[in-house]
Amino acid sequence: MPVLPPDFVRNMTRLLGGETDRFLRSYDEPRSYGLRLNRLKLDERHSLIPALTGLFGLRPVPWCPDGYFYEASARPGRHIYHAAGLYYIQEPSAMIAAELLDPVPGETVLDLAAAPGGKTTQLAAKLRGEGLLVANEIHPARAKILSENVERLGIPNAIVTQAAPQELSARYPETFDRVLLDAPCSGEGMFRKDPEAIAEWSEEAVETCAQRQRDILPHAAAMLKPGGTLVYSTCTFNTLENEETVADFLQRFPEFRLLREERMWPHLGQGEGHYAALLRKDDVSQEQGRRPAGMPARREGGKPRKGKGAEPPEASALSSYVAFAQESLPGFRLPPHGQPLVFGDALFWLPVPPGSAVTPASLRGLKVPRPGLHLGDIRSGGRFEPNHSLAMAIPAEAARFAADFPAGSAEAAAYWHGESLPAPPGAKGWGLAAVDGFPLGWVKASDGQCKNRLPKGLRSP
Ligand code: SAM
Repeated sequence: MPVLPPDFVRNMTRLLGGETDRFLRSYDEPRSYGLRLNRLKLDERHSLIPALTGLFGLRPVPWCPDGYFYEASARPGRHIYHAAGLYYIQEPSAMIAAELLDPVPGETVLDLAAAPGGKTTQLAAKLRGEGLLVANEIHPARAKILSENVERLGIPNAIVTQAAPQELSARYPETFDRVLLDAPCSGEGMFRKDPEAIAEWSEEAVETCAQRQRDILPHAAAMLKPGGTLVYSTCTFNTLENEETVADFLQRFPEFRLLREERMWPHLGQGEGHYAALLRKDDVSQEQGRRPAGMPARREGGKPRKGKGAEPPEASALSSYVAFAQESLPGFRLPPHGQPLVFGDALFWLPVPPGSAVTPASLRGLKVPRPGLHLGDIRSGGRFEPNHSLAMAIPAEAARFAADFPAGSAEAAAYWHGESLPAPPGAKGWGLAAVDGFPLGWVKASDGQCKNRLPKGLRSP
């Protein structure tokens, strides 16, 4: 058993009473490992699922239909299927929060504290590519990891922002059908997984976290539409950051009701522990003064690219993309809702449903690491170069050709390593490299060779 802070043990004894010994004995057990299959790529009946089950020793997580426990020795994070975005490694109890929020395709959803992206990718799978998911993370380095995970899992309808909660709530009052606040917390449920969480724990840290949660929650609430639902979750055990934070919130915001509360405990189930509360906002007009006022729009970050004369840059960028797609992506159509957006040389497809308050103008002045699906970049002479994100968001069959190899083959390993591949007969220009039918990235074929266009940072060591 790790050495636990005495104040933590005392608090848990007060909370759990006769159950405390059983709880403390869970620290002698090995931690649990989980992954969630990516339904954007693998539907429930996909023929690869039995193979994955055998390969990683998968066993279903009872509270999450796409979740599985895996054997520690299986190391799915190192497998080429991970690079292909077939699953997301996620602590099993953490899967409860997005299950509780349970968005449906077409909704507008906000994940306010989203990095590294476990719950974002889970919410995206539930949206099935329809509707809009805004995934926000305040810390720049963590926002980058979040954005990479959104890319790897091939999520076509997500915008990644890097903002403080108050910056977002000023722009998006009553905008989202569902909001998740997976709050920064004292991480008591991380103790088996991460010994540093033990070293960082103190009663003062718990109090600081509780105060921060009470500061963030009103912003999450302000962005929810009347009648919408909000999940507040943490991976900690103390009541100050959980039930008491929710009770304090309900007292300050009587338009909210508590619908359900879930506690996951490491001694009562398989998982590290989690808390999640599902709240609904009444469908009546809000009192004045609760909502932060709108902020003036201002653009920073990526510089808008000037088009020729009065033509917006989006028009010429989109025609470059269309020329590329006609030749190289005969089986892919841009999502029906949305609009093109140019940031510098980059062309994105902003996945906004009709009437949404999340418009290009509303994003001005915000840091937006990923304003939708990154289609590609406009090179000299208007030449279009597809981005890796597009490869991950489309099926292999959408491309003019795919160099497809089985997992475990020398060719699949060589592509992942950054090497060229032999081109399929007659292949020319842009195509995909794939493993067992799932895209890994772009290739460019000429003279019987496929040049490797997998970004350097994503290649296997
Ligand atoms: N939902 C994520 C997932 O499932 O992968 C985990 C989120 S983690 C529990 C909480 C996040 O809140 C961290 O990424 C942290 O950087 C962020 N955070 C820290 N301080 C914050 C603040 N004041 N406002 C908003 N987010 C904050």
